[in-house]
Amino acid sequence: MQLKTDLFINGQWVKGAGVLPVMNPSTGTLIAEISTADQEQCDAAITAAHDAFPAWARTPSRVRSEILRKAFEIMTAESDQIARIISMENGKTFTDAKGEVSYAAEFFRWFAEEAVRTPGDFRHSPSGDKRILVTHQPIGVSLLITPWNFPAAMATRKIGPALAAGCTVILKAASETPLTAIWIVDIMHRAGVPAGVVNFLMPEKTGSMISRMMHDPRVRNVSFTGSTEVGRILIKESADLVLRTSLELGGNAPFVVLDDADIDEAVKGAMVAKMRNGGAACTAANRFYVAKSVASEFTTKFTRAMADLKMADGLTEGAQLGASVSIRERDKIAELVSTSISAGGELHLGGTTPEGAGAFYPATVLTVTKENPILQLEVFGPVAPIVTFDSDAEAIALANSTEYGLIAYVYSSDLKRAIRTAEALEAGMIAINRGVVSDPAAPFGGVKQSGLGREGGFAGIHEFLETKYIGVEI
Ligand code: NAP
Repeated sequence: MQLKTDLFINGQWVKGAGVLPVMNPSTGTLIAEISTADQEQCDAAITAAHDAFPAWARTPSRVRSEILRKAFEIMTAESDQIARIISMENGKTFTDAKGEVSYAAEFFRWFAEEAVRTPGDFRHSPSGDKRILVTHQPIGVSLLITPWNFPAAMATRKIGPALAAGCTVILKAASETPLTAIWIVDIMHRAGVPAGVVNFLMPEKTGSMISRMMHDPRVRNVSFTGSTEVGRILIKESADLVLRTSLELGGNAPFVVLDDADIDEAVKGAMVAKMRNGGAACTAANRFYVAKSVASEFTTKFTRAMADLKMADGLTEGAQLGASVSIRERDKIAELVSTSISAGGELHLGGTTPEGAGAFYPATVLTVTKENPILQLEVFGPVAPIVTFDSDAEAIALANSTEYGLIAYVYSSDLKRAIRTAEALEAGMIAINRGVVSDPAAPFGGVKQSGLGREGGFAGIHEFLETKYIGVEI
């Protein structure tokens, strides 16, 4: 199938007012030019979603469920093609991209199953004067804004629950990775989504045009995944019309290795937690806190595993570390590493930007002190700073010393100790003796400045539902 590059409004592919180049960060070459929308086209998408909403909300949930199930099947059948597109526009390896497609498709399957199970409630009021009926109804037109690091999964994690709930949507993908989103929108179309239910656009000017859309009273909900910085802007934008928002924001995950941990397992987990997606994951382990007594063994084994990774164009056979999404993102990583070294960080591996056109940065391991500035920022690349600690209490205090709270990892052979630590860590998700916990069946989300709301699990659909209470006189 040919790559589509247009906007999708009211069930039609339409040319935009302008174009946006999409680059391959592994080679620095142009992949395609996609359409960008002007104000009128943004308004047309809102109109389409608004007009389609009443019928879609009334469509039996079994029908909505079957469309989502069909989308799951198409996506699974086309996983190789989609993974190639992801790898080309995002830079990640084909293996990571295939993993993403299967994770992404699972959101369609999970929410196909959830669509027909929205619970309600019937109760006698304690005073006996009435009956309490509680029902859940779709919020309405939802604006979905996604980042570049998981261009497929972040889109399906929103489209799936929105459609299951009965909402209509306008999807806006990240400028770096729109082609994956367009493919997914085309899948929705082929799966039988009625016109106007799913719309796709890339505004010519992101900030001002999204702001305008958030001030249109027909838009009732914004679901955003991206940086905390942009999340803060959207919270402010949502205040004027008191829009519902769900925000999946940045992370700064601590990876805590207690002194009784199985170090080989911890290294295995660290490789997944750090290197999935080349470190460009909100869940990526960003700070390694390792008990002093095991730090030398952990650092040696982890550095060896990192050194063994093959860095190459994501589509090269055997590539294990691909490119960053752009030279700009790669340079941010390089800058953070040099700041960390200037602040006393001791380099064990990597740390040098390779020559050439691709946005590559090598696997990098450092030992730093607990004051090092790299520990306060989301690196979003293949860089692992290691800090040692003396006691569990100190590890917990260090892990919690951040404005973020998305996920934390704990390794210990003593489950009681691991759970005590997990309970003390300030994060929405904790991985115990595992390098990955993301699962469409589990509630994904953060505390503190990592976001508001949960995606996936039983909670995910409620980000697109309003609770309505009906009091009945008896
Ligand atoms: P970003 O810069 O915040 O951009 C995310 C999306 O927001 C893009 O579509 C971007 O569009 C759009 N955007 C930018 N400025 C905007 C504005 N003023 N108003 C409305 N939309 C705006 O994030 P990113 O660099 O793509 O992604 C990396 C970040 O996402 C990291 O911080 C990562 O931790 C976070 N993330 C979080 C999760 C999670 O579930 N918690 C998952 C994945 C990623 P343009 O591309 O057009 O600027």
